Amino acid sequence: MNIHEYQAKELLHSFGVKVTRGHVAHTVIEAEQAAIKLGCKNWIVKAQIHAGGRGKGGGVKFARTLAEVSEQTERMLGMNLVTHQTGKAGKLVQKVYIQEAYDIGKEYYLGIVLDRRLEMPVIMVSTEGGVDIETVAAETPEKIIKVGIDPVIGLRSYHLRKLAYGLNLNKAQMKEFSRFIPPLYDAYQKTDASLVEINPLVLLKNGEFIALDAKLNFDDNGLYRHPEIADMRDETEEDAAELEAAHYDLSYVKLDGNVGCIVNGAGLAMSTMDIIKQSGGEPANFLDVGGNASAETVARGFDLILRDKNVKAILVNIFGGIVRCDRIAKGILEAAREIHVHVPVIVRLDGTNAKEAGEILQEANIKEIIIAHDMREGAQLAVQAAKGDR
Ligand code: ADP
Ligand code: MG
Repeated sequence: MNIHEYQAKELLHSFGVKVTRGHVAHTVIEAEQAAIKLGCKNWIVKAQIHAGGRGKGGGVKFARTLAEVSEQTERMLGMNLVTHQTGKAGKLVQKVYIQEAYDIGKEYYLGIVLDRRLEMPVIMVSTEGGVDIETVAAETPEKIIKVGIDPVIGLRSYHLRKLAYGLNLNKAQMKEFSRFIPPLYDAYQKTDASLVEINPLVLLKNGEFIALDAKLNFDDNGLYRHPEIADMRDETEEDAAELEAAHYDLSYVKLDGNVGCIVNGAGLAMSTMDIIKQSGGEPANFLDVGGNASAETVARGFDLILRDKNVKAILVNIFGGIVRCDRIAKGILEAAREIHVHVPVIVRLDGTNAKEAGEILQEANIKEIIIAHDMREGAQLAVQAAKGDR
C-alpha cells in the first residue's frame, strides 16, 4: 500500500525523523490558513498524489506571499497532474501540502528496501539526489552506494560511516547524517514498510539533514498489524479495477501490455507472464483467480480485464487440480456469452477433466475461442492474436 507524502512525513516524524514542516489543505482557504500557521517567509505548495516526479510536472511551486500560496493552490486543486510516474492519464490533484520553503545546501538520494538477493534490507544513498534515480541506476550505477543490514546485527555505526564516506561528507556532516538515519531505519522496520524513499534528502544551509520528500510503501500482508497505517489508505488514488478485484479476493495487477491473462495460482500466473514475454508479447495484467477457480471467478476475470482498452487478446491458463476443467470450460462459455467478449480468447486447460473441457469448448464452436494444447502454444497464439494475425 502507498500513502501520500504528508502522511509519510507525519509517520516519520512520530519516529523522530526530521521532516519539513507543513500542513495538508483541501481548499484554497485551508491552504492560506496553513501558510499563516506555519508563519514562515516563503512556502512550497505541493500536489499530493501517489506518484513522484511532481516537480517537473508542475506540482511543486514556490510561493513568496500568501496571495501566491492561494494562487498556486487554486491552480493545482482539480488539476490533472501528469508525471513520468503517472502514465499519460495523469492523476487528479485533490489536496495540496503547504510547506515551509527551506534553504537547500545539497540534495541527496536515500532509499531503504528489502534486497531479496542479499536477503536483507539495504540502505542506498547517492549524491545524485532530486532527479529520478532510475536514470542514475541505469546510466551511472556506481553513483549509488548500497549497504546491506543484516537483521541479526542491526544498524551499526560502520554502516553509517560507509554510507557517509560514499557521499563525501565532512566530519560535521557525518555526525548529522548519523543522527538522521537511525530513526528512519527504525520506521522502516517497525511499520513493515517495503520501501522508504527520501528523494531528496537535503543538507540545509545550516548543516542539518532533513527529509524534503518522503515516499513510503507498505507490505499489504503486514497491514493488519498497523491499523493506523491501514487507515491512511486513499482509495481514490488506486486503480479502480485493482480495488474491485481485491474486494472479490482476486489478485489483479494492471500492467501495460495487450495480452490479458486469467490464471489460477500465483506461480502459474508468474510463469504465464514470463512465457508471454518469451513469445514476444507483453502481458496486460497479472491475475490469479485463486486455487479454487470457478465459473464465476473466471467471469469476473473477463469483466476486469476487458475494461482495459489495451487488451487485444486473452489467455486463459488454468491447471485443474481440485478445480475441474470441464466446469471452467462451461464458465468460459457462459462468461463469453454474458459479457460479450469481443477479443480472441485462447484457452489452455490441463489437468482434471481436461479432455471433457476440450470437447465442451469444441462443441460450442464460438469463433472468439481458440483452444491451445499446451502453455507455450497458448502463449504464442495469444501473442499472435494480440498483434492481429491469428
Ligand atoms: P517530486 O519528487 O514529486 O518531484 P519533491 O518533493 O522531491 O517532489 O520536490 C521536487 C523539488 O522541489 C525538490 O527536489 C526540491 O528542489 C524542491 N522542494 C520541494 N520541497 C521543498 C521545500 N519544502 N523547500 C524547498 N524546496 C523544496
Ligand atoms: Mg522527490
